Amino acid sequence: MKKLPNEFLNIMKSMLKEEYVNFLKSYDESPYIGIRINELKCDLKKIRNEFNIKKTMFCKEGYYILDNDVKLGMHPLHHAGAFYVQEPSASAAVSILNPVKGEKILDLCAAPGGKSTQIASMLKGSGLLWSNEVVKNRTQILLSNIERMGVRNSVISSCRPEILCSKLNGFFDKVLVDAPCSGEGMFRKDPEAIKYWSREHVKMCAVRQLAVLNNAAKAVKAGGTIVYSTCTFSPDENEKVIEKFLIENPEFSLENIDKNFGRSAFSKYGLTDGNKALRIFPMDGGEGHFIAKLRCNTDNRSTVKKYIYKSMRNIKDAYELFESIFSIKLYGNIERIQNTYFILPNDLPDISGLGVIRAGVKLGEQKGSRIEPSHALFMSARFNELNNCINFDCNSSEIYAFLKGKEIEIDCCEKGYVGVSVDSIVTGFGKYADGRLKNKYPKGLRNN
Ligand code: SAM
Repeated sequence: MKKLPNEFLNIMKSMLKEEYVNFLKSYDESPYIGIRINELKCDLKKIRNEFNIKKTMFCKEGYYILDNDVKLGMHPLHHAGAFYVQEPSASAAVSILNPVKGEKILDLCAAPGGKSTQIASMLKGSGLLWSNEVVKNRTQILLSNIERMGVRNSVISSCRPEILCSKLNGFFDKVLVDAPCSGEGMFRKDPEAIKYWSREHVKMCAVRQLAVLNNAAKAVKAGGTIVYSTCTFSPDENEKVIEKFLIENPEFSLENIDKNFGRSAFSKYGLTDGNKALRIFPMDGGEGHFIAKLRCNTDNRSTVKKYIYKSMRNIKDAYELFESIFSIKLYGNIERIQNTYFILPNDLPDISGLGVIRAGVKLGEQKGSRIEPSHALFMSARFNELNNCINFDCNSSEIYAFLKGKEIEIDCCEKGYVGVSVDSIVTGFGKYADGRLKNKYPKGLRNN
């Protein structure tokens, strides 16, 4: 462990008082490793069969991984989107946001997608998830995680918060601001982060956090909620940001967080009723988080225009492709944009000018006179929704070969596109003919 800055330790000492000794001791222990089961695709039984796990308190689907030598990212169930590797306390913010079926939710600082995919899992395929990431080169990993987890009802954008939130004024039931921060809670997991710590950096983060939160205030509807979270301990980036926000936005109030994890945040830094917010320290079973819940008490009426879906008349071939692969009814609106077809979610707002990178599911691409289905289309499928799917056991040589991009010899089904699943969770597809499955697993995702 790198040496922690004295200034940081002094702030922690005065914050934690007699608990400071335990806080310091936590740096001699290993960081927590956690996963969150993706209930869109998987259940606990399948995970229990493979891993030694123990329940966390932070969310219903959260588990500690008790073996520290498993290569989670290479595991077939990870490829299939059965779970997301997530620091255990990082799931607490979405538990507090509490997405409910049918809601419209904005995740304003979304990459790499841990919290977005948790929101999607709780929305259970209904409503709308809008995941925004202002740093464009971080949107690829966000998109890849949203696809892997089989999310159908999301929009991914890369837009400045001030533009996005002004144009989508009053549109969302709930907004999550998982703000960029100085990352003090990540020092155990990522000791490299220690060298970037300074008082100036903390202050700079605090200014940015308040600006993002002020923008988020525009996007939430009357009576809606904003959840603000960081993975840092500094009061400047936590209680003090909320205090300033409430002064600048008197139509918002701080809501009590009633949960059986973490501990009350602090009133001593100037935030009235600061104990309504929540803090998690390494002594509480997670690396560290601050979470505050804010309610919008004003009449923040949405002026957002609806998206006008194009007529489906010219997409007959794409529709037929969907019907040949799926045994369910089409779950959105197919649209062609240049040579690519998408299944757009229902009830979209006008998305123009908002840096949208993906809306809904990529169905496929026009290649001459035929349409090649996309990997994302199959990832969005559940096993029993496909007309044709070959299932492999999680520990079979075939699934490991498939994930390496190898062709598989098998006697299985009708000629054509066929889903490939692991323990009945779809993880991609191939093209089958004459006892051979041609591998369509994307090169960039393959195991070495
Ligand atoms: N919510 C994500 C998750 O659970 O996977 C983690 C988000 S991370 C803590 C904060 C994100 O905010 C980063 O992806 C960062 O690129 C983005 N960000 C950086 N500057 C920003 C700004 N000025 N406004 C909004 N987001 C910003």
